[in-house]
Amino acid sequence: MDSGNHLKKNSLGSCTLVGAGPGDPELLTLKALKAIQAASVLLVDDLVSDEIVACAAPGARIVHVGKRGGCRSTPQAFIEKLMLAAVRAGETVVRLKGGDPLVFGRAGEELEHLQAAGIDVTVVNGITSGLAAVTALGVPLTHREHAHGVIFITGHAQGGASDIDWKALAAAAHNAKLTLVIYMGVSSARRIQDQLLSGLPGDTPVAVVQNASLAQQRHAVCTLAQLQRTIEQEQLGSPSVIVVGNVLRGLAAAQLSATSVQRRAQLG
Ligand code: SAH
Repeated sequence: MDSGNHLKKNSLGSCTLVGAGPGDPELLTLKALKAIQAASVLLVDDLVSDEIVACAAPGARIVHVGKRGGCRSTPQAFIEKLMLAAVRAGETVVRLKGGDPLVFGRAGEELEHLQAAGIDVTVVNGITSGLAAVTALGVPLTHREHAHGVIFITGHAQGGASDIDWKALAAAAHNAKLTLVIYMGVSSARRIQDQLLSGLPGDTPVAVVQNASLAQQRHAVCTLAQLQRTIEQEQLGSPSVIVVGNVLRGLAAAQLSATSVQRRAQLG
């Protein structure tokens, strides 16, 4: 037993980038679950739920590299160093990320770093939170009449929301009938709203979905012109996805009629 272990420690381990999905453990892929169970070291991001981390083997070393416990998140370069050192020490390393590891997960940087060191990395996809958010609303992402495609976009580019050409996006979304799915957009919602209004009508339906797929999931539906106000009123915060587009028309109309029924009941 000992000599086997010793041998293993002297040879190169492995590294798998695993998508943990939006939070609900039942949305893990079988491949993701198997990789988590087989890992000897797991480097875990903040948005990965505790229930998923609990799937790891009892003896596995779990390293939280997010902002948990009030710490600032671990610098990217340090995470990459940790991954490399663990692989070189013969560990079966799983880098566990929320949603899909290749969507706004800085996976590109981690892949490049390990590949440059001659280490093969396997990637296991996860359900990205943008998809889970739209599913939570019970609407489609595309629609033969209303949406011919989708744009997944961050509201928080390296230089802030101002790095993104929201006006061009609004025009494209309007002209080509595209659904916008905005990650990390809640804190820049005012700017996003103002700039999108340059190319999209004020009554374009919008939804904000917080904690999609989790027990504490919440959402609000409003118009583009009401986005910031709704976020404040409903006290929606991170992690949330903002969905913009006419795929939400039916939902917005249903909400409007529910509100007017409520008002009538109150008046009556
Ligand atoms: N790789 C992840 C995205 C990482 S960026 C993915 O594919 O989902 C982090 C952002 O993802 C958050 O700021 C938020 O916009 C979104 N997010 C992650 N989990 C979420 C959830 N359960 N509900 C809503 N948004 C979520």
